[in-house]
Amino acid sequence: MKTRIAVIGGGAAGFFSAISAGESGGDCEVELFEQSDRLLAKVKISGGGRCNVTHACFEPRELIRHYPRGSRELLGPFHIWQPTHTIQWFESRGVRLKTEDDGRMFPVTDSSTTIMNCLISAADEAGVKVSTNSRIEKISVDNNSLFTVHIRDQPPRTFDRVIIATGGGKQSGGIAFAKSLGHTITELAPSLFTFHCRDHRITDLQGLSVPMVTVRCAMENLEQQGPLLITHWGFSGPAILRLSAWGARALARLNYTFTLNVNWTGGHNSDMARVLIEKQRQANGRKMVGATCPFDIPRRIWERLVRAVGIPGDLQWSRLNRQQILSLCRESTAGSFQIKGKSMNKEEFVTCGGVDLREVDFRTMQSRLVPGLFFAGEVLDIDGVTGGFNFQAAWTTGHIAGKTAAAP
Ligand SMILES: Cc1cc2nc3c(=O)[nH]c(=O)nc-3n(C[C@H](O)[C@H](O)[C@H](O)COP(=O)(O)OP(=O)(O)OC[C@H]3O[C@@H](n4cnc5c(N)ncnc54)[C@H](O)[C@@H]3O)c2cc1C
Repeated sequence: MKTRIAVIGGGAAGFFSAISAGESGGDCEVELFEQSDRLLAKVKISGGGRCNVTHACFEPRELIRHYPRGSRELLGPFHIWQPTHTIQWFESRGVRLKTEDDGRMFPVTDSSTTIMNCLISAADEAGVKVSTNSRIEKISVDNNSLFTVHIRDQPPRTFDRVIIATGGGKQSGGIAFAKSLGHTITELAPSLFTFHCRDHRITDLQGLSVPMVTVRCAMENLEQQGPLLITHWGFSGPAILRLSAWGARALARLNYTFTLNVNWTGGHNSDMARVLIEKQRQANGRKMVGATCPFDIPRRIWERLVRAVGIPGDLQWSRLNRQQILSLCRESTAGSFQIKGKSMNKEEFVTCGGVDLREVDFRTMQSRLVPGLFFAGEVLDIDGVTGGFNFQAAWTTGHIAGKTAAAP
């Protein structure tokens, strides 16, 4: 008799699991259940409609550094399926990917529909039966490891193996199923968000970006570097998103209310910043402080920093006194901003937390508690920073879960 495999969830991880199981050549029947009438809904909206499929990072040890949660566990899986495999997999199905300057990879068509169509037709070719409007309400397992899957408005069905790929967040059905089957769920919190801040130093500067800043939340000892974007509600950009990802749980506990220190000079410490300010003073003594900036930051931001420490913008550099130099130095390298609230990053957001990774065997993606039960994608306590890392985790865990679930 064929092995019956149920894949719960029609997102990236569910599709990749189902295709991988269907293509494995094992003697199995694969059925994918999606609660809504839309398949791959997140793939569709991902990357602003372009779908950031993966990241051009091909060294597993380097790759795992982009996952605030799950990095240790993903090392082994990335030796089995990493971005190289993802690229080859899509290319072998006629979907070419391109790499942008920052390493993000997109289909050359710049359209997520290309990725959706590819996955849907690959599932079809692999013999996967796809059922939409099929919400799974309960999963139970008997002593013979036979699963009963309860589908809304349908009679219960039995399966030999079940792959849970229901995505992250409180709404994900998989969290409840995993719990009911004995799994531990780690604390859930949003990741990849931007910060709310009302401050005269950034008012009306929305759209301005600084190429390299260091942002720090001293209360939680969190620090990240990268580009920063000023928005009409506060701060965004890669440095902020990274801080939000690494600090997802800590910042939730602070109710997103904390002091953020911004080092606008990027990597310079206050001694180095002081050297650069002194150099500027000597080289441009007759120029106005507000008009010439010693750091690589937009002039409009520099003007605000100068004004914030009470220095008239039209003061000449040569007239700065020692105290003013120190204040300017402090403001440039550790300006304090009060953060009150957050907004999700529209381009990409994920949930931190999910099925406890200690209860999953990452060689197979099988539950260590319930034989025949597998997990893939964001339902696990795995999340990455922006840049294609979240989909890569879905492809990798989906590939392994599908292949091993289909093995005899
Ligand atoms: C706006 C946005 C843009 C993003 N852009 C990117 C990007 O460009 N690159 C990147 O790497 N990551 C991106 N991400 C993150 C990425 O989309 C997710 O990490 C990824 O989709 C997770 O895949 P998944 O299959 O685990 O979960 P999901 O994509 O969430 O799929 C889970 C599916 O399971 C279904 N389901 C849930 N419960 C049940 C149930 N009880 N019965 C049946 N079905 C059920 C859901 O309806 C859903 O379709 C983005 C996220 C968002 C929100």
